[in-house]
Amino acid sequence: MTQRGLLIVLSGPSGVGKGTVRKAIFEEEGVDFRYSISATTRKPRPGEKDGLDYFFVSREEFENKIQNGDMLEYAEYVGNYYGTPKSFIDETLASGRDVFLEIDVQGALQVKTKMPEGVYIFLTPPDLTNLRSRLEGRGTDSREVIEKRVAAAKEELKMMINYNYAVENDVVSKAVQRIKAIITAERLRVIRV
Ligand code: 5GP
Repeated sequence: MTQRGLLIVLSGPSGVGKGTVRKAIFEEEGVDFRYSISATTRKPRPGEKDGLDYFFVSREEFENKIQNGDMLEYAEYVGNYYGTPKSFIDETLASGRDVFLEIDVQGALQVKTKMPEGVYIFLTPPDLTNLRSRLEGRGTDSREVIEKRVAAAKEELKMMINYNYAVENDVVSKAVQRIKAIITAERLRVIRV
């Protein structure tokens, strides 16, 4: 029988750099786990591609997917839905391949309730001032949205206790190496829960 794949969940406060770290991981040589592409009702940012960065859908389509039980988890974040399509996760894990999710804290906690055997990694910002300047530097959000994101991040930091690992994102390449080390170790476990 094929051993089920490993579910790896990267999460943490908005603006901590989850997206940057995830992209850097997938640019590494020999990455042999699959990325779970989320669905969202947010509009694409310049350069983002449908089916690659996200599945960009309407609110109606998203709500239909929720109704049909197609979402492993979903969250409403700053006025938009974000969610993880369930079938891709089920099929990939069943085939023995590992799956990597990069999702917000609300979503990660929902996944953990359903799939406690996963590996839950919390990416932490070096400090909150840094988080605010990152969001400002990105230049994609209004001041009001930035304030909301920082307030959400303060609440989210309290959720670290629910994760298996905390990785500081001081330098992206270091965070990437730490996450790869965690995945290597988890794959070498004698017994998986
Ligand atoms: P952004 O709009 O910057 O791409 O993402 C906003 C937040 O939504 C980020 O914290 C990102 O990790 C999170 N996110 C992306 N995809 C999903 C998903 O499928 N589910 C949940 N719960 N959050 C997601």
